[in-house]
Parts: sequence; structure tokens; C-alpha cells
Amino acid sequence: MKKKLLSVIAPMFNEEELVFEYCTATLQVFEHLHKQYDCELVLVDDGSKDKTLEKMRQIRQQCENIITIVSLSRNFGLEGAVSAGLRKASGDAVVVMDADLQDPPVLILKMVKAWESGANIVIASRTKRSNDNFFKQVSAKIYYALLNSLSGQLNLDKSAANYRLLDRKAVNQILSLPEVNGVFRISVPFIGMKTVTVEYDRAKRAAGKSKYSLGSMIRYALDSLTGISVEPLRRLIWTLPITALIALVSIIGMFVSTDIWRVGFMLSLVISILFFLLFVSIGLIGEYIAQIMIEVKGRPTAIIYEYLPCENAKKGE
Ligand code: UDP
Ligand code: MG
Repeated sequence: MKKKLLSVIAPMFNEEELVFEYCTATLQVFEHLHKQYDCELVLVDDGSKDKTLEKMRQIRQQCENIITIVSLSRNFGLEGAVSAGLRKASGDAVVVMDADLQDPPVLILKMVKAWESGANIVIASRTKRSNDNFFKQVSAKIYYALLNSLSGQLNLDKSAANYRLLDRKAVNQILSLPEVNGVFRISVPFIGMKTVTVEYDRAKRAAGKSKYSLGSMIRYALDSLTGISVEPLRRLIWTLPITALIALVSIIGMFVSTDIWRVGFMLSLVISILFFLLFVSIGLIGEYIAQIMIEVKGRPTAIIYEYLPCENAKKGE
């Protein structure tokens, strides 16, 4: 009987120090699975400037049956790399994970078990993230608190990142979503389906530095906040009663107070608050217009320059 295929997608951007270490750890996990499954390791090179791609090719020479390379034409960012991997992965189940060994490959065994028990989606949830720095922990808390307050019916797991297993049905559903600027960790809960969670401790990065600058983290947060729903836009209505209240208080204050300095101070405070509200509102509306622009243009999330499928993936064609 033909074995099922399990694909693991690992996006990499300038990870030359990690390619061998990550692949060795994941191939070791595959050894525990090979009796039941054919495996495919999809290495996505997200336009690296260092020797990442060269190292991917070297390791592929040694195991052409397992290693697939998807090389992007330039750096498209993690979301683009994940979507390119999803487009090319041939597996009956597909695991998406970071390649810096913060997501331990050994957890794949547990995820596969949960899939075998009938789950369409298996989410890896971090029990602790004390290996992340203080700034990352605080910003993650704010990010998820905001997302959750805006998520409506979506059930977001605040401890889950991209480490997830999706069966073929879920992968096809994600790929059929029409949006261009999707955020993987929002698209997955959006499609629903039978979801199971497994827990793990998030490790430290095995080598190299995080590829996220403060700017790219803000960009990512804005894409998520505007991508999750139109709730932020709707909540702009609250600026109306706030503005009315401020106006009322300042008018009463002017009648009550005879001190010209106090009145002047109050007026400038009121004007500053109003301008603040105005700029936040315009900024938010601008953000949504930018998202509409991106979606209308319909440009691909990532451009695949080269695709080298492994033997195991070709078997199923
Ligand atoms: N990554 C990518 N393209 C990018 C940025 C990151 O493919 O533009 C990959 C990176 O190589 C790693 C994963 O995405 O495998 C997670 O990135 P990172 O560890 O820098 O994120 P953090 O853990 O700091 O949030
Ligand atoms: Mg990392």
C-alpha cells in the first residue's frame, strides 16, 4: 500500500549557521516516522543574502528523496515564504515551523499522532516563552490582547505562533482564500475545522539573530489588526462621544474659571486631544485603504524562482 506523505515546511532567511543543524534534527525525527510515512522537508529560501541556499543544495545532494527546495526570487518575508511552501508542499499533512530550532522538531511526532486521531489542524502552543527577551514577551502580550479583543468569533490561541500541522483539506482551504496579504496565524483559525492543541516549551534560537526588526514587527502587527476584522474601523465611532464630552467639559470650564492662564491651558489640552484622536482615526483609515490597495492589485505573496522537488514528492504526482 502507498504510504502517506508528510511534508514539513521550514522558511529560512539568512540562516547559514542553522541549515545543517536544523535539517539534521528534523531528519532524525523523520527516522521515527519512515515506517508509516514518506517524508518531505521543504526548505524555503526567502531570498537569503548569505550561504543559506548553497547549504540547502549541499544537504539536498545527500538526501534527494526527502529534501525539496523552494527558492524565492527575493526576500518576501515570513508570510510569503510560508505561503510559497504551502503551495509547493505535496503532503497529505503539512507542518509549518520556524527553522531556528525554537520550534523543536521532535514535537512533530506528537502532532502526527493528533492528526492520526482525526484532527484536521494541530496547533503547537507555547507553555513558556521565558527564552524570549523581555521586549518580545511584553509586545506579544499587547499584540494578542488587542487581537483577541477584535477577533469576534475567531478563537485565537495567544500562545501559538506558526508551528502548526494542517491536513490536506485544511491546506487546500488556506490556499483557496482569496486574500493576498493574509496572516497565517489568523487564516488558520478562520477556516475552522477540527483543531487540537499540543504543548511545548519554546527554546532559545540555536544560532544567529532574530530576523524581525522593530519596524517589521510593527508592520506585522498592523497587518494582523487590520486583517482580522473591520472592528477597529467600527470602533472609531467612539471618538464621537469622547469628542463631545471633551467639548462639554471645556465649555463648562471656561464659564466657571476666571483665570485666563487656566482657560488657555485647558484649551490647548483639549485641542491636543482632539488632534490626537483625529490623527489616530486618519491613520487607521489610511491603513485600511492601504490593505484594500494591496488586495486590489492582487500581486502574489511570493515569487518562486526555483523549485526542486524531492523524490518522495514526485512519487505522488
Ligand atoms: N524568516 C523568513 N523570512 C523573513 C524573516 C524570517 O523566512 O523575512 C524565517 C526565519 O529564517 C525563521 C523564521 O522565519 O526560520 C522565524 O524568524 P525569527 O526566528 O527571526 O523570528 P522570531 O522567532 O524572532 O519571531
Ligand atoms: Mg525565532
